[in-house]
Amino acid sequence: MLYPKPIRKPKPRRRSRTDLRTEVLIRDGGCLLRTLGYPGHECIGMFETPIHRDAPATGPGYTLEHVPAAHGPSDVRRDDPAHCVGLCYGTNVKPPSSDEREVMRRHLRGLFPACPELATMFSGDGDG
Ligand SMILES: [Zn+2]
Repeated sequence: MLYPKPIRKPKPRRRSRTDLRTEVLIRDGGCLLRTLGYPGHECIGMFETPIHRDAPATGPGYTLEHVPAAHGPSDVRRDDPAHCVGLCYGTNVKPPSSDEREVMRRHLRGLFPACPELATMFSGDGDG
């Protein structure tokens, strides 16, 4: 017996990681910690080479960092601009300290005040 060929639904288009990286790095000026003037921060690229202040924001020394909404490895990585920041390679692989993460969260909360995960993120820590 013959059956009709199944109808395939088109796959939903996903935003590519490259587009997300470019968007976030341009928004954050490459490394968010340098853009915000984090005390004592110097941008370090791959192979421990310093990144020049005038380097393009989307240059190879900068990376996309997923900012978790909760402590621990259970949190889902969300590929959207509200949950990512730009960081230099050296800070990202170090990895970022809890103070540095708090700066990132505060930055994202300021940019996306309507985002429910950001609003409840570490709600005990005060000025969010
Ligand atoms: Zn940096």
